[in-house]
Amino acid sequence: MRSSQFFISTLKEAPNDAEIVSHQLMLRAGLIKRLAGGIYTWMPLGLRILRKVENILREEMNHAGAVELLMPAVQPGELWQESGRWEKYGPELLRLKDRHQRDFVVGPTHEEVITDIVRRDVKSYRQLPLHFYQIQTKFRDEIRPRFGVMRGREFLMKDGYSFHASFDDLQREYRNMFDTYTRIFTRLGLEFRAVAADTGSIGGTGSHEFHVLADSGEDALAYCSDSDYAANVELAEALAPTKPRGAAGESMRKVATPNQTRCEDVANYLGLPFEKTVKAIAVMHDEAFTLLLLRGDHTLNEIKTGKLPGLDPFRFATDAEIERFLGCQLGYIGPVGVDPAKVRIIADRTVAAMSDFICGANEAGFHLTGVNFGRDLPEPSIVADIRNVVAGDPSPDGKGVLELRRGIEVGHIFQLRTKYAEALNCSFLDENGQSQFMEMGCYGIGVTRIVGAAIEQCHDERGCIFPAAIAPFTVCIVPMGYAKSETVRTAADALYTDLQAADIDVLLDDRNERPGVLFADMELIGIPHRIVIGERGLKEGLFEYQGRRDTEAKMVPAREIIAFLK
Ligand code: ATP
Ligand code: MG
Ligand code: MG
Ligand code: MG
Repeated sequence: MRSSQFFISTLKEAPNDAEIVSHQLMLRAGLIKRLAGGIYTWMPLGLRILRKVENILREEMNHAGAVELLMPAVQPGELWQESGRWEKYGPELLRLKDRHQRDFVVGPTHEEVITDIVRRDVKSYRQLPLHFYQIQTKFRDEIRPRFGVMRGREFLMKDGYSFHASFDDLQREYRNMFDTYTRIFTRLGLEFRAVAADTGSIGGTGSHEFHVLADSGEDALAYCSDSDYAANVELAEALAPTKPRGAAGESMRKVATPNQTRCEDVANYLGLPFEKTVKAIAVMHDEAFTLLLLRGDHTLNEIKTGKLPGLDPFRFATDAEIERFLGCQLGYIGPVGVDPAKVRIIADRTVAAMSDFICGANEAGFHLTGVNFGRDLPEPSIVADIRNVVAGDPSPDGKGVLELRRGIEVGHIFQLRTKYAEALNCSFLDENGQSQFMEMGCYGIGVTRIVGAAIEQCHDERGCIFPAAIAPFTVCIVPMGYAKSETVRTAADALYTDLQAADIDVLLDDRNERPGVLFADMELIGIPHRIVIGERGLKEGLFEYQGRRDTEAKMVPAREIIAFLK
């Protein structure tokens, strides 16, 4: 590509509202342009980066056996009614009506749509497993869109959904995706960490997040360098009864603090007869359970509609009342207690909350019958134990000390189990001709967020420093006097042709600008390799080479330049 034929539009100063460096640099380098809050155009230069990220994702997803499709951005509201998320998703869901007054949403995610496809087409265990993925535009009406494309409202996500005949098979695919994500982020050239987002071990029931490490990250991660222990502190903090200490905890979100709550209080809040207190309340937050009070077997719907077997009709609490009581946003209250594996997820993540609750119950003199750690519930898990950690605290697995870093969530894998299959009746006939719900996994990567995260992780005072794998161009040629000097022009054109022939992604900056301007732009854009061609060097058969991270340029024989770059 020649600059003169391309579109390079850089800015000296970033607009005032750009709070973090990646947002400032993306605007200054002309990678994106803002259209509205959280809504951006990807300019040609930025789009090149995005496409490189996408290609790596495609290659690795295909390699892992997933199959690409493309689902619609606009989805019928009915499907969301059916899954129950029409009510539960809240204001992040952009809803609209068509000319016939029918409800639609602009998809923030695609579990409903994909499950609808699979329930129609797949009937037998012989057609399973399946894994579909797409790279597609999502819309989430984020309460606080910020940091440019990092928390946009419209953004690009790679989302994959797998369907299985058994939990074992789901776990196999989950592990496959864990490994695939590890390869993807390694190839992208990012420093990242996978952390437990609920249970601590891969292969167990659960969820993992992949974070790019950067000081501006919104999440706090605790990990141990001497073992593979790593977790998102936010989860633990969600359960912490006291304020977290230490730098990592300072700006962490408070999710819920059910400190020393008494059974009676819960009953009162829910308007339930005390002796017949509902057995379980598990709160889903961002697709993950964060809290469980007591042990149980009822869904929110059952609780709220009063269809609880063996319970008298009573006044049901509103969402707002439950939220106020729990001190957190109510996402989803799910069926628990039926499947022991599900009970485990919840218990693992909520031991701190439960222990407070149970203490409270004991103090109140009402004892919860039959609830005991170790017997009815697992022992407190390592996730619960890392709340309030500071760097240097012993790792919960006893294998070293904890380090704390901030991270940007760029990927999330999740074992959904049969949640959507049950809600949308997605079943198959097993080997014995029995109808069963499919086990599902979902796997997301924030494609546009990755670009911001890469810059956040790697930049200097002059601009972006892109990993070679995703740089908009690999090499730039900066001729000193392209218009004026024929010698320079001939050499620059020849090198340009040679680099293209060698399949190196090259930008020839043939703009009629002062060298200082060209240098500053190429540095701002973050191209990894720069070759300067000037008359003086050419006399000796030399080009001037400087890597984006190098402090000094060096002269390289023109003949050797391609070998040098490779
Ligand atoms: P966050 O905690 O940052 O709000 P999330 O947990 O809500 O993210 P997921 O539902 O797990 O997001 O979506 C999968 C991936 O999509 C995330 O890991 C993230 O990389 C990306 N993503 C989510 N929300 C946004 C957003 N508003 N802008 C850009 N990327 C996003
Ligand atoms: Mg998250
Ligand atoms: Mg979110
Ligand atoms: Mg997530």
